[in-house]
Amino acid sequence: MNAIPSPATDFSSLPLPPQAIENLQRLGYTAMTPIQAATLPLALAGHDLIAQAKTGSGKTAAFALALLANLNPRRFAVQALVLCPTRELADQVTQEVRRLARAEDHIKVLTLCGGSTMRPQLASLEHGAHIVVGTPGRIMDHLDRGSLDLQALNTLVLDEADRMLDMGFFDDIAKVAQHCPAKRQTLLFSATYPEGIGKLSARFLREPKEVKLAAAP
Ligand code: ADP
Ligand code: MG
Repeated sequence: MNAIPSPATDFSSLPLPPQAIENLQRLGYTAMTPIQAATLPLALAGHDLIAQAKTGSGKTAAFALALLANLNPRRFAVQALVLCPTRELADQVTQEVRRLARAEDHIKVLTLCGGSTMRPQLASLEHGAHIVVGTPGRIMDHLDRGSLDLQALNTLVLDEADRMLDMGFFDDIAKVAQHCPAKRQTLLFSATYPEGIGKLSARFLREPKEVKLAAAP
């Protein structure tokens, strides 16, 4: 199934701090899944990435460990943004990022999705966050209002990119990307590889490495 010549599957082969490795063990993550083994060495080396693997293959931890590696916990500003197609997926990503961030003290992850009232989101943003996870439309609203500042961002993740394209989020993603610093790492994850992925990649990724682990349906 894995088209890449069998990479190491031990998390300790990665350039991660010992606390992060211990935390993974506590979570019962004894070995990397194939998509993690194929992408993490590239992502942790700073490359932009297009990664495609089926649902349930562990893509969240792949980008979460990469964005956490780029994070400076002492700098209380939004350094990573994960765009997701739906609130349910954003909530799941937030939970996984929080689990994986537990090795680090006080990393604040904020979820900003449409369909929730604005006021609590605005209040949370005033308190600040290191990582924001949200849906493109609502993130765009906050950028328009000036309630979200992405100047300190170093990692942009497009999760479930195929579904975001299906849902017509291309223009919102484009506008959000315009608010991100040009110097950043951009990670695109997707379960399938429709035509639009190439367009997204050409617009928003820089010399990306491509990892495809299963034939697109
Ligand atoms: P995807 O985004 O590819 O659909 P998820 O990131 O949601 O997949 O992961 C699916 C499940 O696998 C989650 O419950 C997650 O906690 C678990 N998981 C991820 N990586 C590992 C690992 N290395 N070892 C054990 N479980 C893992
Ligand atoms: Mg996923």
